[in-house]
Amino acid sequence: MTEESPAMSATPKEHRLLPGKVALITGASSGIGAAAARVFAREGARVVLLARRAERLESLAAELRADGAEAECVVADVTSAADTARATARAVSRFGRLDVAFNNAGYGVGRTPLHLMADGLYDEIMEVNVRGVWNCLRDELAAMLESGGGAIVNNASVGGLLATPVAAPYVASKHAVIGLTKAAAAEYAAQGIRVNAVAPGTTRTEVVGEWFANNPGIEEALHAATPQPRTAEPEEIAEAAAFLCSDRASFVTGVTMPVDGGFTMV
Ligand code: NDP
Repeated sequence: MTEESPAMSATPKEHRLLPGKVALITGASSGIGAAAARVFAREGARVVLLARRAERLESLAAELRADGAEAECVVADVTSAADTARATARAVSRFGRLDVAFNNAGYGVGRTPLHLMADGLYDEIMEVNVRGVWNCLRDELAAMLESGGGAIVNNASVGGLLATPVAAPYVASKHAVIGLTKAAAAEYAAQGIRVNAVAPGTTRTEVVGEWFANNPGIEEALHAATPQPRTAEPEEIAEAAAFLCSDRASFVTGVTMPVDGGFTMV
């Protein structure tokens, strides 16, 4: 086992954000999580990738290893406390500790008026977006207390800061993620653990691509409501998460950083 992933291409070694850090990334099989896996590894982290789709995880891990990184996969469901405990335990058994975590796994369906939403959708969304983060947080905090500190970033959404239309359970779940972030940040700050959140605006992932395709005009409408009039790329969210996980954000805790081109500013 090396202390730091060697030879990751773009960032010179002395400037890397996460040199030698052991990082757990949930929801790493696609979208923002997969981008985070690439960014964190490039920044020197040894990564543990969690999601349910094994093939996607394995193929991403193979890509990262081919680039010189150390990567482990844990096929797991964040709604299961046993699964999230297994992921943290894998990080510790494989790499000796857990330094940072990006709790990104999440689920956003809806686009239906609240009174017409299917029964059960509320529970489904809360299970993944809130219980999932809760399960991860408990294990990660315990592991970080063991190793003397760490940094956690939860993936919220602009929907955690304001009410985006026709997505009530999603909005409620992401407000809860921000609440959990603040609660954990306050509780563990003195013990050397920072907890922050990112709040992405609309980001070009597969699910969002499908949403745009099925709703002509929606992308243009979103751009019109965004001071930087475009859709975010997954890497832009991953970069913000990497910064907040890094020692360069050493006095930042309990914040939710919008990564939204100014959407929540106006
Ligand atoms: P994707 O659907 O591409 O990614 C979601 C990831 O979460 C997948 O890797 C999926 O993996 C994983 N996941 C979902 N449910 C579970 C579960 N129960 N257990 C473990 N893993 C799970 O979406 P995005 O990349 O777009 O979204 C990632 C995060 O960013 C979410 O929290 C989302 O709410 C947030 N976000 C996204 C925005 C966007 O516009 N794209 C805007 C604001 C916030 P698998 O299916 O293999 O388990």
